[in-house]
Amino acid sequence: MSSVRLKQRRTKIIATLGPATSEDAVLERLLLAGVDAVRLNFSHGTHEDHARQTEAVRRVADGLGRPVAVIQDLQGPKIRLGTFKDGRLELPTGGRTALVPDDGRPGDVEHLPFSYPELSRFVTPGDLLLLKDGSVRLRIQDVETNHIRANIEAGGVVTDRAGVNVPGVSLDVDSMTPKDLEDLAFGTQLGVDFVALSFVRSAHDVRLLRLELEKLGGRARIISKIEKREALEDIDEIIQASDGVMIARGDLGVEIPPEEVPHHQKEIIRKSIIQGRTVITATQMLESMTMNPTPTRAEASDVANAVYDGTAVIMLSGETAVGRYPVDTVRTMDRIARHAEDHLWAYRDFSVGELLSKEPPERLPSTGEGITEAISHAATHLAENLGATAIVTPTTSGATARQVSRFRPDAPIIATTPDPSVQRQLTLEWGVTPLLQARAQDTDSTTRGAVQAAVAARFLRTGDLVIVTGGTRPNVPGHTDFINVDTA
Ligand code: PEP
Repeated sequence: MSSVRLKQRRTKIIATLGPATSEDAVLERLLLAGVDAVRLNFSHGTHEDHARQTEAVRRVADGLGRPVAVIQDLQGPKIRLGTFKDGRLELPTGGRTALVPDDGRPGDVEHLPFSYPELSRFVTPGDLLLLKDGSVRLRIQDVETNHIRANIEAGGVVTDRAGVNVPGVSLDVDSMTPKDLEDLAFGTQLGVDFVALSFVRSAHDVRLLRLELEKLGGRARIISKIEKREALEDIDEIIQASDGVMIARGDLGVEIPPEEVPHHQKEIIRKSIIQGRTVITATQMLESMTMNPTPTRAEASDVANAVYDGTAVIMLSGETAVGRYPVDTVRTMDRIARHAEDHLWAYRDFSVGELLSKEPPERLPSTGEGITEAISHAATHLAENLGATAIVTPTTSGATARQVSRFRPDAPIIATTPDPSVQRQLTLEWGVTPLLQARAQDTDSTTRGAVQAAVAARFLRTGDLVIVTGGTRPNVPGHTDFINVDTA
């Protein structure tokens, strides 16, 4: 490849921030190791913590001259235990316990305080309650108003505010709690680039969040976390209503049996590529690196297989937030993804072109999205046939770059935009390198400016062959209608 810096990783990396990343020096090393976006987990920490971390990320990213997206992950309607003396409690296998409303007093084996007393309306004797990501299993014996007695089928240690899952039971809860609404307003003030919604059950939940964001005047893109069986049942609509989805394997693997997760992971990736939405594979990707400097072979395989399936993003959680080796973990993930990408084309049955070729042929509408889709497909083919160094997409909203990314082209996609917020949001799109470019008045200067911006950033060399695709109505989003073969 003739360009100077174009050996970019196609698959993007998210690092969750936490106590292990609180110093600027660590953040800088994380970004240099290859982090494209950071996640603030609003299940933990205060608003002050999140504000401090967001400012630190922006400061460090600006210092490096790199766009880095900030993702606000809302807690959602998660049921949680209360607190315990010493922060933990051992529940003995074969013992008995009762879930009681949390009144702030520390719990004990006979009284487990929890945050959702209305649960007694939805469960019946025989139902399962899973605590702390399924590591402790309770079987409900009898239910009274606000009081649920249960046998401890599989005991273990629970900690303060551990999660409670009730697999297979539909709960009548709001998709956003009062805390989520407060957090959303706070995140909007911070100017986060993405909002992730936890425990999405239907496309309706996503639309409610979009309305709330509109009321607040927020521009964040919406990521739906898929972690409930109900979400799997409405998955096509949820993907359609969202800007991206996250396969949140932690909770999903508790809400449904873990052996069912891999199939759903593959299906969600496939459907997201077809619908042109970014897709994040999350949780326990390099879990053992929370404590150890090297991954297990199975973890390396898990990361690589997600890349082979065409996932747009891979995510680290506790590994970077509280782990002992946050920077080494990102470096390891980067290396695994790059190696997998070296062989990606041997497995290239994941591009939307290939995926759609397995469906019955359908003529695209010859207007709007149909034209954008056809041109993006053609750009991918042209780049391949001519051995172009890159596909360059000047874009106002990011839509053209996203459309081209759907086709998972071999050639890197260099997206140029005048809008720093769009630039940051494009960091989560597969294969896209987003650059800033001054706003231009007509198509010719936009096209020329885009290629020049890529040369100036040393992603292209003078003389490189490029495919440029975009819209002839500058600054009007969503109208990709031209394609040029050009020389940088
Ligand atoms: C998950 O459950 O896998 C997940 C990503 O969500 P959280 O980290 O909020 O538990």
